[in-house]
Amino acid sequence: MANKTVLITGAAGFLGSHLCDYFIAKEFSVLGMDNLITGNMKNIDHLMGHPDFTFYHHDVSNYVYVPGDLDYILHFASPASPIDYLKIPIQTLKVGSLGTHNLLGLAKAKNARMLIASTSEVYGDPLVHPQTEDYWGNVNPIGPRGVYDEAKRFQEAITMAYHRFHGLETRIVRIFNTYGPRMRLNDGRVLPAFIGQALRGEPMTIFGDGSQTRSFCYVSDLIEGIYRLLMSDYAYPVNIGNPNEITIKQFAEEITKLTDAKSGIIYQPLPQDDPMQRQPNIDKAREILGWEPKVDRAEGLKITFDYFKTLTAEDLNKVEHNDFTKYNKY
Ligand code: UDP
Repeated sequence: MANKTVLITGAAGFLGSHLCDYFIAKEFSVLGMDNLITGNMKNIDHLMGHPDFTFYHHDVSNYVYVPGDLDYILHFASPASPIDYLKIPIQTLKVGSLGTHNLLGLAKAKNARMLIASTSEVYGDPLVHPQTEDYWGNVNPIGPRGVYDEAKRFQEAITMAYHRFHGLETRIVRIFNTYGPRMRLNDGRVLPAFIGQALRGEPMTIFGDGSQTRSFCYVSDLIEGIYRLLMSDYAYPVNIGNPNEITIKQFAEEITKLTDAKSGIIYQPLPQDDPMQRQPNIDKAREILGWEPKVDRAEGLKITFDYFKTLTAEDLNKVEHNDFTKYNKY
């Protein structure tokens, strides 16, 4: 029997590249697509030339063509950090809306099953805690994060419409904060920010008083959950994340210990609409997928720190890897 073919968008990004590795290891034929706006070819260098891997440099917000049969599409292309939304807001909206529409059309034409990467951001600054999938959220549509949150909410809506109207097989994963090797050191998110600061000998920047909470999931756990969801027959959203909740202040203390940082902590203003608390309720994932996270934070953080230590001084001191200016014409 021929290998199943999977198209992974955002293939050169953090999660996309781990998905490519996972599906290659499972002997799928993998088509990776990325416009490299926030992705980095270094993340998939090792797959180039692999007989089961093909890379397409393409922006999925424009019409998407791939030759041949397609069994699965995983739509992971999107900026995913709050500072990226501020730099490239229109592209963030387009990839979640127009990009999703193009890929749903492709899935329909190829009779493929489509899984979309949604997010805990659909819950906004949540008034229900921990967040269950039936909570509708508390999102500011016109705030700085609205470009991401509303694109992802639209993405869920159009995906359910294709499922209900066209009978397309669809899956929706709501991803909570995830970390691991290949995160962009300068993407502004809290883990690379703190580790980068530790490695440069700078103080760690806590936004607000650090009492806001997050729950961090190690990447291999997330990828396993996504695979199980894809292979399940469940079309409604499923939270995938690690319910172990921690304040950002505690997190800074953990990173300080791990990295043996000596430069202390400084406090900066809390960004607008920064959610005060976040913790997934994963009952559904447990029941439907038989999934729960396995890697505890101490173990996951150690692996991640070891990865960041392999980066060069040049990587460490670069303000930003990517040249966004050329995309601002869109
Ligand atoms: N944060 C921080 N210092 C930083 C970067 C982030 O205190 O240098 C905080 C941020 O305000 C938020 C939390 O860490 O409360 C997680 O931020 P991140 O950007 O990683 O992702 P979010 O969960 O907000 O999407």
